[in-house]
Amino acid sequence: MKRTALIIVTVVTISTLWSCLSKQTKMENRLKTFISTYETKAIPLYRENALASWNANISGTNEAFAKSEKASFEYAKLFTDRVAFAELKEIKDSQEVHDSLLSRQLELLYNAYLGGQVDTGLIAEQIRMETEISKKYANFRVNITGKQITDNEVEEILKNSINSSELKKAWEGSKMIGPVVADEVIKLVKHRNKIAQKIGFSNYHEMSLKLSGQDPAEVTRIFDELDNLTRENFIKLKGEIDSYFAKHYKIAVTELRPWHYQNRYFQEAPKIYTVDFDKYYEKQDPVKLASSFYNGIGLNVDAILEKSDLYEKPGKNQHAFSTDIDRSGDVRTLDNIRPDSYWMNTILHELGHGVYSYYTDMSLPFTLRDAAHTFTTEAIANMFGRLATNPQWMLKMNIIDEKESAKITDDSRKALRLQMLVFSRWAQVMYRFEKSMYENPDQNLNQLWWDMVENYQLIKKPEGRDMPDWATKIHIALYPCYYHNYLLGELLASQLYSYITANISAGQSFVGEKAVGDYLKKKVFMPGARYSWNDMIEKATGEKLTAKFYAKQFVQ
Ligand SMILES: [Zn+2]
Repeated sequence: MKRTALIIVTVVTISTLWSCLSKQTKMENRLKTFISTYETKAIPLYRENALASWNANISGTNEAFAKSEKASFEYAKLFTDRVAFAELKEIKDSQEVHDSLLSRQLELLYNAYLGGQVDTGLIAEQIRMETEISKKYANFRVNITGKQITDNEVEEILKNSINSSELKKAWEGSKMIGPVVADEVIKLVKHRNKIAQKIGFSNYHEMSLKLSGQDPAEVTRIFDELDNLTRENFIKLKGEIDSYFAKHYKIAVTELRPWHYQNRYFQEAPKIYTVDFDKYYEKQDPVKLASSFYNGIGLNVDAILEKSDLYEKPGKNQHAFSTDIDRSGDVRTLDNIRPDSYWMNTILHELGHGVYSYYTDMSLPFTLRDAAHTFTTEAIANMFGRLATNPQWMLKMNIIDEKESAKITDDSRKALRLQMLVFSRWAQVMYRFEKSMYENPDQNLNQLWWDMVENYQLIKKPEGRDMPDWATKIHIALYPCYYHNYLLGELLASQLYSYITANISAGQSFVGEKAVGDYLKKKVFMPGARYSWNDMIEKATGEKLTAKFYAKQFVQ
């Protein structure tokens, strides 16, 4: 009797298993077919888009930009395919895809197609609104007592003047763009929310994060952790900044206002410590230094530099970026290199992006030959970029001698610490303001902004001020729900740096240490996007993304 029962159970189990397997195989095969059709279309469109954008940026001609716009549209159009999305949705809803590479591709493709399922009329309206607003930002000039000045001139005044009334005028003048755009930005925010709600999200902020693989609750938890770890030290540091400025402007600490911090938003560190890094690079070749450094740690960058466009020329984009043209080894960087510390940092930064793409495992499927997240590649770029002002790195690279290195060590540490802390408090304001604004665009946003600024940056609101100062920051209007990634990139840069210096590298500067390159290749670059960003981070450093290493590096 017992035995019979056992046999029956076994038969049932096997047959359930068998039917599971066959359902799984069926769905996985459907997904394989989908992917192969997708790749046939996507690979050439992706490459044309990347190449057209590259050509537009190095030439600056209208013709090249028109081509680039068209290629970008064609690539985006791929993800609007409703039939393809329905197929993906059915496969996803079946929950039958278990193979790890396939299920990760399914997740990324599903999000990409979901983002493309918005009504094209609504998207066209969004682009129209954004274009109108961007024109207003572009045409706005600060007016000081009848004279128009540029944003750069405002920053110059804020950095150099010691006259409070002149500073106040420049700062207030720069805020006059607020009332010009605020109403339209609120309309745009509500419109973006409508788009998000149509595809099942509660608001646009939630949609933006989730479609890029981030859970807003998780990001908030990391921001809370960072706030807790930095608050006390920031209060102390802010006290030092305030005493410095009170002396500098010959006023009482209680009289300090937002215009006294050398920057429109207090997003950059005020110049309190005096290390002039530029002078060390005057006679250096940043490209040679960067390539000898990267090659020395076993991350060869010759093929990247070969294809790159490194120096200034007419019509060319004046900034810097790195791009992966085909996810098959054609990686390039655009720069405008000069012999100074900014460009030393920048070329190290861009080549950091470059090696991430270049050393991704080329046997991975196309969709997974990408960074785990945009902020993880930013982290690598930041970690290497920081070396440009690291006295130990400069010593080992023969840029300065032992004596000079010892002389500037303390001040460069303090300067970097100040920069990081100031930026982290500013990023708190941006992240929390945007999140709350999309959750409820009808609340008193002027008040919300200043509550955040006073709470996180410890900057005092000017008495009685009730202006849309939040709308003066162009990212709020035109580059929405992305700013937090800059900070996550910094946190991960510190986490990786801390892990490497504790476990992999013998020194603090990595110079000549092949083990560092090997580690990064194996644990960060090769895996590409095969793991979600937090799983990749955990596999590479033993724990999920945490603010504690950033705090350890910059708070003490
Ligand atoms: Zn970057």
